[in-house]
Amino acid sequence: MATPVSIVKCQNYDENEVLKAIQQSVDLIGGIHAFVKRGDRVLLKPNLLYGKSPEKAVTTHPAVVKGVIQIVKEVGGIPFLGDSPGLESAKRVTEKAGIKTVADSLGCPIIEFNRPVLPPGRQGKVFKNIEIDQAIFEADVIINLPKWKTHGQMLLTLGIKNLFGCVPGTRKALWHIKAGEDHKLFAQMLVDIYCLIQPSLTILDGIVGMEGNGPNSGQPIPLGLILASSDPLCLDQIVCDLIGIPWKSLLTNRVAFEQGLGKGGVVAVGKSIEEVKIKNFNLPSFQRIDWNLPGFIRKPLKNAFDSKPVVNKEICKECNQCIKFCPPEAIKANKKGLIFDYGKCIRCFCCQEICPEGAIIIQPGWATKLIGGKLKIESGMV
Ligand code: SF4
Ligand code: SF4
Repeated sequence: MATPVSIVKCQNYDENEVLKAIQQSVDLIGGIHAFVKRGDRVLLKPNLLYGKSPEKAVTTHPAVVKGVIQIVKEVGGIPFLGDSPGLESAKRVTEKAGIKTVADSLGCPIIEFNRPVLPPGRQGKVFKNIEIDQAIFEADVIINLPKWKTHGQMLLTLGIKNLFGCVPGTRKALWHIKAGEDHKLFAQMLVDIYCLIQPSLTILDGIVGMEGNGPNSGQPIPLGLILASSDPLCLDQIVCDLIGIPWKSLLTNRVAFEQGLGKGGVVAVGKSIEEVKIKNFNLPSFQRIDWNLPGFIRKPLKNAFDSKPVVNKEICKECNQCIKFCPPEAIKANKKGLIFDYGKCIRCFCCQEICPEGAIIIQPGWATKLIGGKLKIESGMV
């Protein structure tokens, strides 16, 4: 049977409107009772990438977190909230993002993901020893609360990508290095994490999303939608439909399909896709070609075609966060500013993701610019 993904309109972050939209979106897929029982310990996993105010659309909006805490408590669930943000603690990010105030007011504790463990009795298909935070395995129910945003490396960050935050702290950089330059391998790791965690419910904050240079420095864009599903893989497919790109444009979708996931199909319920389709959603200028060529031919073509991070010196505040964060140490600073070693760079775009000033942009290779930036997205080859 096809997995339902509910689509509900919600035009702003008025708390009552958001609560109503969340209730409706969950009712359309079976109701909160189908996911949470009295006494369940319910872990909420929002997107806490970086501590910015809610208007910047970097983090899941506090009104969405509040609404979900309320519906969980209504059925006797015991909510708690956690994540492993990029640079700061979860406590600090939630303070800046307005989430701590609502969590505190409803008695929902916030925890740091800093206890890595190997998932008991479970293994990824390809990545056999991914350590996930212990809190995941202490919860009876996991509710995944992603934000609808563009992403430099993965094109979009939605239901599946949001779960990468369940890998504690510095281990995330390690996994970037392990996947290396191979974005499909990185997507495989995300799919392995999704299979290990198996969230019960995913509710996407698409009331105001982010387009362009996401996930930290793009433009907030009003989308007016809440989506919910028991399966983030299905939810991610419906978002692709809503912005009019092929499902396989998302590497996580492509990897999941190749290993036989998602065969049951997906169906939109609530609003139809045609009713709420998003026109001209601005995707990042992410371009990468999966060269099935020997290394000695591929290497010279890499810089011509693959996108790369570049710094806008006028915006850069020389805080050196990107240097500290770059997994393969491909960035250095001298008197003239930042220097990228593109031979070492694995195109993970962590630097672009983490820069607090939005000073790093993703620039397509010169040859890609010549043949047209959107080519592979349109043909589903990203
Ligand atoms: S993180 Fe951003 S502002 Fe800081 S040094 Fe890097 S580019 Fe400059
Ligand atoms: S320079 Fe940026 S994109 Fe390249 S490896 Fe370092 S963090 Fe990743």
